Amino acid sequence: MELVLYPAEVLGRRAALVPDPVSVEVYARAMVRLMREREGIGLAAPQVGLSMRFFVLGVDRDREQVFVNPRIVRTSRRMVRSEESCLSLPDVTVEVPRAAVIDVQAWDERGEPFEIRARGLAARAIQHELDHLNGVLCIDRVDMKRRERISRRLEVLSRNGSATRSAP
Ligand SMILES: [Zn+2]
Repeated sequence: MELVLYPAEVLGRRAALVPDPVSVEVYARAMVRLMREREGIGLAAPQVGLSMRFFVLGVDRDREQVFVNPRIVRTSRRMVRSEESCLSLPDVTVEVPRAAVIDVQAWDERGEPFEIRARGLAARAIQHELDHLNGVLCIDRVDMKRRERISRRLEVLSRNGSATRSAP
């Protein structure tokens, strides 16, 4: 399993619904491993080249969660600005506004539906990963001025093409 880097086409595509949540279990396990190796706190299927609507979350150190066909059903009106990075955008950090609290419905890798309320870092990470399923990157969420600041770095990544980095 390889990490897909910006500007790979799959990162800009809307991912497809997963017909059977149980079918992602093997992928999800490999994604958790990759996420932990790279010290990420979340990894979405398009980031490993799978255009499917699921992601793994690892905000808590020893607990991972799989979200299949996730849907945000409620968002707080309060927004929080904070810095974000992305395993698909190495050495890029951008400040992104996100809803402070969200309620999310999804299925886990055993096919069980669940709903959780997320705050803080978990709320931010879930919104970031869910964006990936819609072909949206954190750099798409910043204003022109902030984008300008990272434009040189994005050029370098673009020049490298949609190269992938293999997992160690
Ligand atoms: Zn990301």
